[in-house]
Amino acid sequence: MPHQILSREEVAKNNSEESLWLIIDSKVYDVTDFLDAHPGGEAVLKQVAGQDATEAFYNLHRHEVLTGKYASLCIGTLEGEQAQVITRQPGELSVVPYGEPMWLTPQFRSPYYKDSHRRLQKAAREFTDLYITPVAQECEKSGEYIPQHLIDRMSKAGILHMRLGPGKHLHGVELLGGVVKGEEFDCFHDMVLGQELTRANARGFLDANMSGMAISLTAILQFANDDAFKKKIADECFSGRKKICLAITEAFAGSDVAGIRTTAEKTKDGKHYIVNGTKKWITNGVWCDYFVTGVKTDKGLSVVLIERGEGVETKQIKTSYSTTAGTAFITFDNVKVPVENLLGVENKGIHVILSNFNHERWMMASGVIRTMRKECMKWANQRMVFGKKLMDQAVIRQKLAKMIAHCEANQAWLENITYQMTLMPYSQQATHLAGPIALLKMFATRSAHEVADESVQIFGGRGLTQTGMGSVIEMFNRGYKFDAILGGAEEVLGDLGVRQALKSMPKSML
Ligand SMILES: Cc1cc2nc3c(=O)[nH]c(=O)nc-3n(C[C@H](O)[C@H](O)[C@H](O)COP(=O)(O)OP(=O)(O)OC[C@H]3O[C@@H](n4cnc5c(N)ncnc54)[C@H](O)[C@@H]3O)c2cc1C
Repeated sequence: MPHQILSREEVAKNNSEESLWLIIDSKVYDVTDFLDAHPGGEAVLKQVAGQDATEAFYNLHRHEVLTGKYASLCIGTLEGEQAQVITRQPGELSVVPYGEPMWLTPQFRSPYYKDSHRRLQKAAREFTDLYITPVAQECEKSGEYIPQHLIDRMSKAGILHMRLGPGKHLHGVELLGGVVKGEEFDCFHDMVLGQELTRANARGFLDANMSGMAISLTAILQFANDDAFKKKIADECFSGRKKICLAITEAFAGSDVAGIRTTAEKTKDGKHYIVNGTKKWITNGVWCDYFVTGVKTDKGLSVVLIERGEGVETKQIKTSYSTTAGTAFITFDNVKVPVENLLGVENKGIHVILSNFNHERWMMASGVIRTMRKECMKWANQRMVFGKKLMDQAVIRQKLAKMIAHCEANQAWLENITYQMTLMPYSQQATHLAGPIALLKMFATRSAHEVADESVQIFGGRGLTQTGMGSVIEMFNRGYKFDAILGGAEEVLGDLGVRQALKSMPKSML
């Protein structure tokens, strides 16, 4: 049926099972054939037959319901009326108060961001909205791994390169159509991209989206002992042809990295290592070609790159987020690894392992801080209970106040630490910022705990439901714990932060 211009009187006549129309925000919907299929039952549709159902609709649904598979039910627009509900188009900023960090709020200024950060933010948001979010939502539900077409698209846009943070690997690479030069890319660009990617709101998929690469390829770039080897692996991974992950944790060694038991014994001719052992919870491991692996050599820890092949087996581990992340249990059974695959110095692998932790932890903190900025303001302003908006309840406003304070405090600390990072080479960051980054991640996930708890209270039953209005909240409540454990549990990071601080305590005060 062509799109029609209709009057309220015409709509009102279509108020029976034979022809049932209703109005939502100045648009007319014919739901006659949808009565049986309506997930909320047909009775509620009959109650608003021929009427304006805008308030009833937004009290129960997300706006996306109208733009998704039900868009075809729209048959017309009311004569002389305009939509009142503001909807965000792909790439646009939210207009909900505190829906964006302060630097993206028009009335505020920030000393940290240049035009290139703003250009990157805009391009990354558009890319996420258009290409990542739809795939992420599908994969999160189906548990399927990230499709190659998306990896290819991200590779072409330079997103895979950018995931590793600033560095020479970005030089000469076209980044999201040239919005920023690889040579200029700094820690704020890194933060902006990371925060935008989290907006796909699919915690399992966030890790499925090449997180394994983001925390492991850095070890190749920094510690591969042969340039040709480094270039080959980097080219294969940045192009998306091959996948790589970080395999450190074992059943016996999680927080206590030094306790790993996987062994690598040199063959008599000194040309190979023979690797035996297991690894647990390895992100993307199920579908990876390369494993940056922590092993025990004769006098300490070492890190080697293991290629999938004879003796390597991976099995999916089911966790409380989606299997799309490809979390793996890995068995290495007499795997022959060329000695050229050693990263860094033999028996000094702890240096390789620790070197990446700061970026990984900062990246995770940055992500969870962005994801914390939830939909509660919008919902509290929309949901009617006991005849008034939730927002009209003082106790709800108190909850929102606490959540806002957590979001803003975390973002401000993150920006300050990020600024310090822009002033220091990576080696200095390890000395001066490992502690603050550890404390930031600890604080961010403690805040996320508070925010998740209050969000579920504000959304009620919907906050515990995987579809519909509260799905974002349900996902956050299930997902933030990953950030509280992975890359260092809160307790371990808190302890590290304080121990690092004690190193600079003046002796005379002790
Ligand atoms: C989904 C998922 C994906 C992961 N991806 C990867 C990956 O890609 N690569 C990889 O190598 N690893 C990965 N990990 C492992 C992750 O980094 C570890 O789970 C984490 O380091 C904690 O180790 P653990 O689970 O063995 O806990 P444990 O070390 O057993 O610690 C359990 C708890 O004890 C407490 N605790 C531990 N030590 C201390 C201490 N010193 N002081 C006070 N309290 C303490 C903490 O509360 C901690 O949560 C992943 C894990 C999961 C669940």
